[in-house]
Amino acid sequence: MADSKIESMSSAGAGNEVSVGGLRIGASAPLAVIAGPCAIENEHMLRETARQVIKYGAGMIRGGAFKPRTSPYSFQGLGLPGLKMLHRVGRELGVPVVSEVMDSGDVEVMAEYVDVLQVGARNMQNFPLLKKLGTIDKPVVLKRGLAATIEEWLLAAEYIMVGGNKKVILCERGIRTHERWTRNTLDLSAVAVVKSRSNLPVIVDPSHATGYTHLVAPMAKAAVAAGADGLMIEVHPCPENAMSDGQQSLTPEQFREMMAEVSRVAAAVGRDVV
Ligand code: PEP
Ligand code: MN
Repeated sequence: MADSKIESMSSAGAGNEVSVGGLRIGASAPLAVIAGPCAIENEHMLRETARQVIKYGAGMIRGGAFKPRTSPYSFQGLGLPGLKMLHRVGRELGVPVVSEVMDSGDVEVMAEYVDVLQVGARNMQNFPLLKKLGTIDKPVVLKRGLAATIEEWLLAAEYIMVGGNKKVILCERGIRTHERWTRNTLDLSAVAVVKSRSNLPVIVDPSHATGYTHLVAPMAKAAVAAGADGLMIEVHPCPENAMSDGQQSLTPEQFREMMAEVSRVAAAVGRDVV
């Protein structure tokens, strides 16, 4: 029963493409690459990282201002001042920006400063947040929950769409399994399943899925081969000094190399890269 509901809602939306600024994300669009630091640490690092990833092919900049850290003693993000930095850098460089929203009470202020709102894995079933996101006219990146089934993930997307906002982009970021040599287990079969069950664009985040820099490029290539419509990649100018997720971040130079490899896979599967 839940299945037929998913089919009806997901295909009732704005088709299989979400547009933000000049960037299109969807099955018939070029591969969309979102890159930037896990957390915004200061405006200088954000601007320099953004400049470089755009030069190497990123079409959207990411950066967390409200961080869902496992420990309350870890860096929690710069909050509103960080969002304002992201907004300035995005406008200056002419690209859309995405940042995570954790609280339904923050949706309106976030919508003023970012082009796309991200729901993190830990909030995939924060129903008041999803309902609130259904009332705005901004795209939402909905990450798959840490232990969510594909059905739960698609039903979370329905929570947003049923409120009127059809601009949902799904993001597979790995799920928790017994495996410990990767941070999470990247479930690439989910990309193919989602494609067969819904019309929503689906992107892959190999940074959080693997947890280690050296695994990001191989899984990014695999994601593109599996049919992902885009990638979300963490990039930091100096990963060893990052305030969060340095062990999985690429340097801008590593991002450049990854993009060269990803472009070859994209060409092989008949997809353009912006
Ligand atoms: C992030 O994108 O920085 C993040 C916290 O990701 P996730 O919600 O997938 O853990
Ligand atoms: Mn991160």
